[in-house]
Amino acid sequence: MQRGRRKPDWLKSRPPSGSRFTEIKSTLRDHDLHTVCEEANCPNMGECWSGNDGPGTATFMLMGDRCSRGCNFCDVETGGMEPLDPDEPANVADAVAEIGLDYVVLTSVDRDDLADGGSAHFAETIRAIKRRDPEVLVETLIPDFGGDPEAVRRIIDAEPDVIAHNVETVERLQWPVRDRRANYEQSLSVLDQVDRESDIHTKTSLMLGVGEYDHEVYRTLGDLREVGVDVVTFGQYLQPSRSHLDVFEYVHPDVFETWRRVAEEEFEFLYCASGAIVRSSYKAGELFVEALLREERSAEDARRRARAAGGD
Ligand code: SF4
Repeated sequence: MQRGRRKPDWLKSRPPSGSRFTEIKSTLRDHDLHTVCEEANCPNMGECWSGNDGPGTATFMLMGDRCSRGCNFCDVETGGMEPLDPDEPANVADAVAEIGLDYVVLTSVDRDDLADGGSAHFAETIRAIKRRDPEVLVETLIPDFGGDPEAVRRIIDAEPDVIAHNVETVERLQWPVRDRRANYEQSLSVLDQVDRESDIHTKTSLMLGVGEYDHEVYRTLGDLREVGVDVVTFGQYLQPSRSHLDVFEYVHPDVFETWRRVAEEEFEFLYCASGAIVRSSYKAGELFVEALLREERSAEDARRRARAAGGD
């Protein structure tokens, strides 16, 4: 565990490069689209976009690049939101097809200024991608829509493959880490609703290094499993600027590895991506597909055993 602000070596990453990276960037500009990858200057952009030996992943940020909220860990601009672009759903579907992505993550700023929080626009973007190519896997990282179940239901009804919503940190630190309009119970209720109303896989993310204690992280894992969350990721909080929340500590890679094992072996999450540079949608495609295959294999094993035992 390291205190203080000098970034340890394990957080150093190479800037993204290569023809695939440049190609994707120009396609995004052609379609006037935003990605969280670029907005947050994510260290994993090169790796995720290229997709190594699995599906390439990119995270599109819908509904503009200005948010109605101001979380103290987030680098997205607050206030001054623009009206929604009615062409955005089709533009995203076109860009996905042009880039040839197999796995797409859709996220958005919060739009508390809109009556439905932007949920209809978000749902239409899912549908536009699936209409274009039903084989493309779509993961959605949704806001809490102010806890409005109707808004969450619009996303469920659009049938994405994964619905993620981030609790971001442990209950005690919701404020000052997150905007006061967000809270632990509200975020759990969003994840719980998806689990109760559908078979869609659910996912959430926590930042470490904002002052949480181990027993709080452990309890959070229990709360998440209680509302049926399948996938959890852990990443290091990095301060976007001096005006944002201080980094309390740089968590050692061994600690991330411990949490991965606890999440998968003790709490039986479908999978847990855990590491200092891991972000919500880090290699989301590869890991999800891998986990699904693992899930199917163990279901097939169970069926085979049942048959062997003379069951159905
Ligand atoms: S809700 Fe918070 S974390 Fe999400 S984009 Fe807005 S300020 Fe950032």
